[in-house]
Amino acid sequence: MFIRHSIFQNSLMSALLDGIYDGEMTISELLAKGNFGIGTFNGLDGEMIILDGTCYQLRGDGSARVADLDQQTPYAVATNFVPRILVDAPRGLGRDELSAFIDEVEPSANYMYAVRITGRFSEVTTRTVVKQTKPYPPMTEAVGSDKELHFSNVEGVIGGFRTPVYERGISVPGCHVHFIDAARESGGHVLDYTVDEAKIELCPSSDLELRLPLTQEFGRANLAPEDLDKQLHTTEVKTTGGH
Ligand SMILES: [Zn+2]
Repeated sequence: MFIRHSIFQNSLMSALLDGIYDGEMTISELLAKGNFGIGTFNGLDGEMIILDGTCYQLRGDGSARVADLDQQTPYAVATNFVPRILVDAPRGLGRDELSAFIDEVEPSANYMYAVRITGRFSEVTTRTVVKQTKPYPPMTEAVGSDKELHFSNVEGVIGGFRTPVYERGISVPGCHVHFIDAARESGGHVLDYTVDEAKIELCPSSDLELRLPLTQEFGRANLAPEDLDKQLHTTEVKTTGGH
């Protein structure tokens, strides 16, 4: 049933939470690791989504642009997306219901999955980190000024990763997804959505290639804070209460 498949990751979610917003990996290098992925840019300058080998930068105002190959990332996850499991999403399901539906479709919760949901959504709520200036605040403070954006009856792609809880701190446990509309003009980090008509594609993964930044800031970061779960909830889930 399973075929060995690798996910690449640059740096750690716990480093991002600690305010390590500058990496030394270029988008050009990242695209060599996969044609699909999510992440952020140096200075926390917006959300990233990679689709079909194109890296998009989703800015604080919700606008999207194709990222330059020499931009850099402090945190990103990428893979070569092979859609091995395909199912239609039941109409009208919200984020948590669809997540439970996908749980049933997955052969095991103990592996990693790249997930791509393509189609029409009756609603999508996103937020996007805004570019930070030095000295960088921790991420729980940096996301305080984020604006939520609401899309209605929108076509597009929700893409990202479903990560087992044991990877907590390395990555974002649970479902971490970003949205970009079909015109590739706007999107952000997904807080909530409701499916109208969409297909779900899953790419199960067994291997993780982790690259740690060779920067002084990373070397000095506190990567095991006491309140890691709380920080993850504040920064990634925010108001939705889901996972
Ligand atoms: Zn995100």
